[in-house]
Amino acid sequence: MKSVESRKVDTVELVKEYLENPVYKEATIVQAEILRSIRKVLDEKGFVELLPVTVSPITDPLNHPHFGTEFEYYGQKYSVTKSMILHKQVAVLVHKKIYIVSPNVRLETEDKMNTGRHLFDFVQIDMEMLEASREEVFDVMEDAIIYTVEKIKEKYPDIIEKYHPTLKTPSKPFKRYTVKELKEKYGDDYEKKASLDVDEPFWMIDIPLMEREFYDKQDPERPEVLLDFDLIYPEGFEEAISGGEREHEYEQIIKRMKLKNTPPEEFEEYLKVAKAGLLKHSAGCGIGVERFTRWILGLDHVENTRLFAKTPGKHSI
Ligand code: AMP
Ligand code: MG
Repeated sequence: MKSVESRKVDTVELVKEYLENPVYKEATIVQAEILRSIRKVLDEKGFVELLPVTVSPITDPLNHPHFGTEFEYYGQKYSVTKSMILHKQVAVLVHKKIYIVSPNVRLETEDKMNTGRHLFDFVQIDMEMLEASREEVFDVMEDAIIYTVEKIKEKYPDIIEKYHPTLKTPSKPFKRYTVKELKEKYGDDYEKKASLDVDEPFWMIDIPLMEREFYDKQDPERPEVLLDFDLIYPEGFEEAISGGEREHEYEQIIKRMKLKNTPPEEFEEYLKVAKAGLLKHSAGCGIGVERFTRWILGLDHVENTRLFAKTPGKHSI
């Protein structure tokens, strides 16, 4: 990894920036309300909040470089958590509806420095529901987002007026568009273009089979697509949420791993549970907290939505 020396910001300067630029204080006030509001909606719907897993022998296979985020400890190989997806599939067997305010470390490369959307240490609110369809996940998350936006507008009108006066509370149900439809309408850069073209968040559904990991469920009726989805923010803010219905049958999981060239030996512990027939159908998703804050305030970069943000390739504390 390239040294950050060339763009090193002095730590004292960074702390002064936190004290002098009001965005950090205002964004974290809004962010605290996001956490409070989403928790309230999920708690009232009967979800149980679980503690995050920070190191584990099983974590999502997302293709990020490791750079020392893996270690061996008393004979077991651990990785810092990139995603709790596989743990959610187990946890949902204990409680039918769960969520975790989950820190994820994904060592994004420095070309992501200025996307405005990437940190290499971020937090997602990760939820999962047993025996649920993706429609049921949409219903819960739409309620959570609408409640949160309303609450923030009601409690912090001055902050919203200052940063994002045109912020619109979305109406339920959010629109759904298939990836196929979006590609036909907008071409290759469909996610960005569609996001710029709308003024309310929408669900992007039917993501092509090879574009996602083995745990997102293949549609049994249309095997070329997955029963998964993203939520896309309006006004060019792009991806808010990813989620889907999940694979739970051992043979199907192995088939999907082969298709994606995912080495099964890296998921030995997870596969043991699948092989024992313990997993069940579930659906869920994760919403990025910094990105939600960024959209609500209409900010350029997620690094301004929190203290101690970790931007790929930049000096941080
Ligand atoms: P994923 O399942 O990988 O799509 O992650 C779930 C959600 O977390 C995404 O929809 C984003 O809102 C958020 N997220 C993912 N990667 C990052 C990142 N590098 N920086 C900030 N937020 C992220
Ligand atoms: Mg995603």
